[in-house]
Amino acid sequence: MTRLNSWVASANSADIDFPLNNLPYGVFSTTTLEARCGVAIGDMILDMAEAEAQGLVALTDDPLFQAPYWNDLMEQGPAVWTALRNRLMALLAEGSDARAQLEPLLTPMTDATLHMPFVVSEYTDFYAGRHRATNVGTMFRGPENALPPNWLHMPIGYNGRASSVVVSGTDVRRPWGQLKSPDHDAPAFLPSRRFDMELEMGAIVGTSSEGPLSVDAADAAIFGYVLLNDWSARDIQAWEYQPLGPFQAKATATSISPWIVTKAALEPFRVDTPPRDVPLLAHLKDTGPMLYDINLTVTLAPLGQPASTITQTNYREMYYSAAQQLAHHATSGCPMNAGDLLGSGTISGTTKPERGSLLELSWGGKEPLTLATGETRTFLEDGDTVTMTGEARGDGYRIGFGPCTGTILPALDDPFTT
Ligand code: MN
Repeated sequence: MTRLNSWVASANSADIDFPLNNLPYGVFSTTTLEARCGVAIGDMILDMAEAEAQGLVALTDDPLFQAPYWNDLMEQGPAVWTALRNRLMALLAEGSDARAQLEPLLTPMTDATLHMPFVVSEYTDFYAGRHRATNVGTMFRGPENALPPNWLHMPIGYNGRASSVVVSGTDVRRPWGQLKSPDHDAPAFLPSRRFDMELEMGAIVGTSSEGPLSVDAADAAIFGYVLLNDWSARDIQAWEYQPLGPFQAKATATSISPWIVTKAALEPFRVDTPPRDVPLLAHLKDTGPMLYDINLTVTLAPLGQPASTITQTNYREMYYSAAQQLAHHATSGCPMNAGDLLGSGTISGTTKPERGSLLELSWGGKEPLTLATGETRTFLEDGDTVTMTGEARGDGYRIGFGPCTGTILPALDDPFTT
């Protein structure tokens, strides 16, 4: 696939996140415009509310783009998703005769504030990266029993909190929680000392369902993808997780990148999941390439200092695709809704610089990593900024997501003491 050129000149570059091939969906506001739907093109945002008001993107009888979220479009289903993408491609392509009408509807990204691009219906997070599960299992159970016995048969997940999903740029407050150090008999209520990030992709369900889904049906139901940071308090998690899994450790915040990159934009980058150790049961079997070749990078910048790259890996390292996760999610008859967010699970590659969390990078805090500034880290310090970026590389273009970033604020004073 080669780059498609636009009359928006900044889009015609190999090094911009938003060429015509991408056209991701976000929500933006400016000093004069209320929050509304927008489409990224080059270094500009197309005002979809105004484009719709002018009849340029009329796809349905009811308006779809006046509200500050993309859920209304999701609910229209794949045929309308495709119609919109085709329409936007035609409007923004080099030589389009709509240029004069559209130019006044473009806002420079530098003038815009980005908001949550959709209303999160529910949020589920998985544990579907093999290298990740092997690293964590080796730390906690030893190399012999690194993978739990169910792991090669299903994507392990838990139900998270939609209420704590925030858009990139939102600060994240270090949480308090119940911790128990191995040196003490009793737990204590303290600020987390092992606050961490998790590099993930988020898949957004676009089509609601009320019964089991095949892997193909699940793939068809996915609307798009974002980068996702599943902030995690390891010390809270270590004490609370048995026997029902993570709870407060994961409930502080989950950050997502601001632009929904559509499944259509990622189509040229589909890749197979890795070879299977044991065959999957029929309802989870791969039916085609359903992962994506997306390079992922994480940087960490201490307060007021330059950023250091701490992780570089690729989404294709996952063992299970989002389609398999969604299919598994629906096996029980669990209703799935437009706007459901599925976290892939931490993405780690095979080698140390490819690990997607500080837990793995510092091997449980035992091997501090050294940043380019000379500082060391085991877990996150107050003032640290973590930034995730992702790109799929085409011929002369890239599909980017915009950064997923967040800065750690110090814990509150004891929340139960006045
Ligand atoms: Mn996670």
